[in-house]
Amino acid sequence: MFVVGWALSFADVTAVDAEALSKRVGASFHWFPVQKSFILVTKKDTVKFAVGIPFASINGKSLDLAASPALEDGHLWIAEIDANKIFANVQAQSSASAAPVKATSSSSSKVAAPVTKPKNETAGTREVKTIVIDPGHGGKDTGAQGKKSNEKDIVLSVSKILKKELEAEGFTVKLTRDKDVFIELGQRANLANQWDGDLFISIHCNAIDASEERKKQIQGYHFYVLRAPESEEDKAIARRENKVATLYGEKNAKEELSPLEWFKLEARLEKYKQNSYMFTEELLKSFEKGKIRKQANGVGGAGFMVLVGAMMPAVLVELGFISNPDDEAYMMTSKGQKEMAEHLSKAVASYKDAVHSYRETLGR
Ligand SMILES: [Zn+2]
Repeated sequence: MFVVGWALSFADVTAVDAEALSKRVGASFHWFPVQKSFILVTKKDTVKFAVGIPFASINGKSLDLAASPALEDGHLWIAEIDANKIFANVQAQSSASAAPVKATSSSSSKVAAPVTKPKNETAGTREVKTIVIDPGHGGKDTGAQGKKSNEKDIVLSVSKILKKELEAEGFTVKLTRDKDVFIELGQRANLANQWDGDLFISIHCNAIDASEERKKQIQGYHFYVLRAPESEEDKAIARRENKVATLYGEKNAKEELSPLEWFKLEARLEKYKQNSYMFTEELLKSFEKGKIRKQANGVGGAGFMVLVGAMMPAVLVELGFISNPDDEAYMMTSKGQKEMAEHLSKAVASYKDAVHSYRETLGR
């Protein structure tokens, strides 16, 4: 619904990148991926927009927009005509007040400057070039803990090796973290969008909280896409991965998505679903010959918060069970880490080829 709204309303208007606009008017910028809303806060005013909704709110007062804000290519767009109207208003209000806000006023006078139209091709339909790797957890959030290791360290090592492998293949590679730091779940997808990625890979280790006997039994890799969970097991894994957000007081944090949130996500998920599955297929092929075995059928879906905001095909990889002694031992060795990075890199390369051939059949 939202996507259609944009196509119609943006056909004839010039759009400005909302984040770039906020810089020009000296506002701070906040994006809330679950609600698909964004807020620009200047010294005096709070202006709130929502993707697909033809109204803005200025300090709580509603204002009609010429076009609904749109989300495209990892950028948020608002109609230039709306930007000029709103930020001229903001400016007028500021100068009318007695407070000395000259600095903001003068910097907000060039609102109309660089104008960019959304590109036609988005992640998933264009050639695969930029890969965003997200090593899960970090800093105060250790992730799952094994007997001898922490999830955050294993996934960082694998991600760093993977980056090198992919760069050697000619990809542009971005890491959401390259050291032991804490990054909020929502921020990870934001970064991926800023970098205009073609593929988002969030890397994790699985774990179960169970008896030693059971921990010895449950092992294996598993790949997850963002979709409504079909099993309690998948739901539980998403809850475990999402828990960090609620633990560390992240804004809008929750362990599960509500039915309404799933509904809102649907249009966007549809757009990237096919590609997320294509990549998952390649992962299954390349991990098949590895040391760690496949857990169940190897693929599942659930509401992983870290994937929610990504405007690109996205997959969450559970390399193996850190709670299983064999998986943990393998994932801790540099040989194991190198091999897992190789499987991942191979899957990315095959995915790139698959997208390329798909484009050729479409005559692009
Ligand atoms: Zn994790």
